[in-house]
Amino acid sequence: MGMSADLVVMGAGPSGLAAAWRAARRGLSVTVLERADHVGGLSASFEVSGIRVDHGSHRLHPATPPHLLADLRGLLGDDLQRRPRNGRLRIADRYVGFPLKPAELAKRLPPALLAGVARDAVTAPLRGAGRAGTYAGTLRASLGPALYEALYAPYALKLWGLPGEEIDGDQARKRVTADSPWKIARRILRGRSDGQGKIFYYPRRGFGQIVDALADAATAAGADIRLGTACTRIEPAAGAVVLHTSPGPGPGSGSGARAVSGDPVPNAGSTAGTRLTAGRVFSTIPMPALARLVEPGPGPEVAEAAGRLRFRAMVLVYAVHEGGRWTPFDAHYLPGPETPVTRISEPANYRVSADDPGDRTVLCFEIPCAVGDEIWAAGDFSGVVRDTLARSGLPPVNLAEVVVRRVPHVYPVYETGYAEHLAGLDAWAGTIPDVTTFGRLGLFAHDNTHHAMAMGYDAVDSLTETGWDGSAWRAARRRFAEHVVED
Ligand SMILES: Cc1cc2nc3c(=O)[nH]c(=O)nc-3n(C[C@H](O)[C@H](O)[C@H](O)COP(=O)(O)OP(=O)(O)OC[C@H]3O[C@@H](n4cnc5c(N)ncnc54)[C@H](O)[C@@H]3O)c2cc1C
Repeated sequence: MGMSADLVVMGAGPSGLAAAWRAARRGLSVTVLERADHVGGLSASFEVSGIRVDHGSHRLHPATPPHLLADLRGLLGDDLQRRPRNGRLRIADRYVGFPLKPAELAKRLPPALLAGVARDAVTAPLRGAGRAGTYAGTLRASLGPALYEALYAPYALKLWGLPGEEIDGDQARKRVTADSPWKIARRILRGRSDGQGKIFYYPRRGFGQIVDALADAATAAGADIRLGTACTRIEPAAGAVVLHTSPGPGPGSGSGARAVSGDPVPNAGSTAGTRLTAGRVFSTIPMPALARLVEPGPGPEVAEAAGRLRFRAMVLVYAVHEGGRWTPFDAHYLPGPETPVTRISEPANYRVSADDPGDRTVLCFEIPCAVGDEIWAAGDFSGVVRDTLARSGLPPVNLAEVVVRRVPHVYPVYETGYAEHLAGLDAWAGTIPDVTTFGRLGLFAHDNTHHAMAMGYDAVDSLTETGWDGSAWRAARRRFAEHVVED
């Protein structure tokens, strides 16, 4: 079977769906190919024990640009709720509010750590840039050694699987927004007019209601979203791109997620074995995966660079707790080495919804890992759940059920040297005729959902009547480079 479209979008996460919606509204014929059996990628929600849950803690941050927020308000109406943040972080065996607040830190941190932080603040001007090339060097110089060692060093090891000395300084610049005690203090004294750190937006039916609404809007505008359909080969030719597809990995796959149980039922036809012709292709799949699909592919040097870019994986453990809400908090951040878990969230506390039952709740444990390692391969996580709670000073759970999802591509790892590999691969990707790569996986970027959506909009805005506006896209890419992740 053969089909053709003005635009084929690979991947139905927020970046691909935002692009599909905007392009379809402009009157283009759009086909979206999604390998999983549902839309949304990492931003999707699904049900565990009758409760909507996300792929780890997800909030729509107030940093969302006003035009995107207005579009989402238009799609979701009152279901998009404005909520107070209520998370906390464990440091030096106690909990403090997160995002960090200096006044509270001053009251709650043990005197020895506080003295270290104060000393580092005073000596900050003397430290200079330090070994700013690495994550450790950058944060030791800006935050000071005391806070770095107590918080950021152990957290980095768990999140990215590497000591801070082996992580590029870009990681610190893109991820750690309040990067000095003075900046934290200034933030509190002045406040932030956008409400960042104090409030967030969240849909009544889970974060995934955002991507579901985007998919519905794209479909209503004429886009054809094909679930369970993976792209297997891309052949750029004169004036058109030919794509070959095959069935995706099957039920429960999200962002390539492998599910153990509690998965949605497949709900759409696939285009297994289809050949499509596209005027333009937008790819939001991992950039190294794109390099493997395009024929002719890159030369050996670029192929090697692609092989060196690594993504961190994650096991998401959903623990069903019987007996009502577990705590009043939305998330507990656990940077310490006493558990492999980096965060526990309680999805029902992110929203006000009459759909959430009163007699039980679900907790989501995020465990970063590498595909194939001990954590990835583990079968029973109830011990990890119980141990983590006991070691982290948290209330025990009345465990009714445990559901596990494994997601292979979660965090791009900015190992030292990554920038050179990425630059080589990205330069090659820029030469594929009529193909553009963007999105979290497509640009190997740490980003938020609103960044991913903005990329989709900007990609469509670079399409002109006659083709592709390369200078508009280069300007957009410069804007993307300024994105800073909000936690
Ligand atoms: C633990 C965690 C917490 C987060 N918390 C927040 C938060 O609080 N707020 C926030 O704004 N953001 C958060 N994010 C980030 C957010 O999830 C991402 O920014 C967003 O989902 C990226 O969208 P995307 O479309 O670029 O990629 P993705 O969501 O990864 O979507 C890519 C899609 O491509 C599909 N695909 C892959 N390969 C193929 C193929 N060969 N053929 C067809 N389809 C394919 C995948 O199945 C997937 O659906 C968090 C991320 C993580 C991991």
